[in-house]
Amino acid sequence: MNRIYLDNAATTPIDKEVLEAMMPYFTTHFGNPSSIYSYGRESRLAIENARKKVARLLNAHPGEIFFTSGATESNNTAILSAIRDLGCKHIITSPIEHHAVLHTVEHYHNSGEITSSFVQLLPNGHVDLNDLEQQLASCKEKCLVSLMHANNEIGNLLDVKAVGMLCEKYNAIFHSDCVQTIGHYPIDLRNIPVHFISASAHKFHGPKGVGILYISDAVKIQPLIYGGAQERNMRAGTENLYGIVGFAKALEIAMVNHEKDSAYVLSLKNYMIEQLQNHIQGVVFNGDSNGLYTVISAAFPRTEKSEMILMNLDINQICVSGGSACSSGADIGSHVIAAVNNRPDLVTVRFSFSKYNTKQEIDKVVEKLKELI
Ligand code: PLP
Repeated sequence: MNRIYLDNAATTPIDKEVLEAMMPYFTTHFGNPSSIYSYGRESRLAIENARKKVARLLNAHPGEIFFTSGATESNNTAILSAIRDLGCKHIITSPIEHHAVLHTVEHYHNSGEITSSFVQLLPNGHVDLNDLEQQLASCKEKCLVSLMHANNEIGNLLDVKAVGMLCEKYNAIFHSDCVQTIGHYPIDLRNIPVHFISASAHKFHGPKGVGILYISDAVKIQPLIYGGAQERNMRAGTENLYGIVGFAKALEIAMVNHEKDSAYVLSLKNYMIEQLQNHIQGVVFNGDSNGLYTVISAAFPRTEKSEMILMNLDINQICVSGGSACSSGADIGSHVIAAVNNRPDLVTVRFSFSKYNTKQEIDKVVEKLKELI
């Protein structure tokens, strides 16, 4: 049996067209973008064209797009600079953010540089906007609000425009981790009042190790990394040339094909929900049913058998995860599931889809689940 990959919220396979666009920059166009002769100029042009393309696709200015090593770095940069350069003394975030935000906030909180608080969640896992407004209204100091656009485990989507408007009203800085939405939804940054957003190419069929930080023209910050003058003095270090070219190509393909691909992926998700409901007794779903079209967070009744589900699916060549991909490889349970659905009687499995999955794969996975639950 071939492997079945249903963990596309963790990472996605690269699109062949993206790889083709990147290849010349591994081989013939290898110049250092900072060199002044032709090899260097070719590389510089490729980076600036990629920046323009990304800016056009997100409706931002090229000067607002900074290439990074991925969303972890982008999230770190946004949070650090909001504290260091923009005077934020309090951070409001949620307990279901990615660790790239949660652990960063925790670090600055523990160091005594800032205070922080969690916004309350509604029973369906959504951010309680009334609580957010109350916290903003009662905070005496400048706030940073860091809330993700879509949750990578349960798929809930945040109304970023509403949050941005609240931040504007209370003069707070707004950062949103958009890793699960950029490359999956049309995003119009001119129409979202946001100061920072983070994205990562490997979540939409681009290469790993490259992301962006959008920094609104409205704010000026200092770099996270010091050294050369790359990225307009904002991020030193020779650029990830092929990665940057790959980011832009992957985003372009994702946006050009968005309508067709998202409808197809949504049809897979809906089909799998239907099959699970028809064949697996007691299955329930975490999060909002109108969340990401790419993610299902399914919870099965806990039994001796279902407790081993992830391992048994792996033995059967089916790749899914319990929550988010865990960097340590240790299954210590998910902080997101604990926050939104603390039910020790259930075992949660995240299935996440891409344009490369098929209905036949879902049939095979459901057949296996019937045996393994
Ligand atoms: N934020 C979210 C919501 C994610 O899903 C991920 C990836 O797992 C990250 C941040 C980290 O992104 P990167 O792998 O580019 O550092």
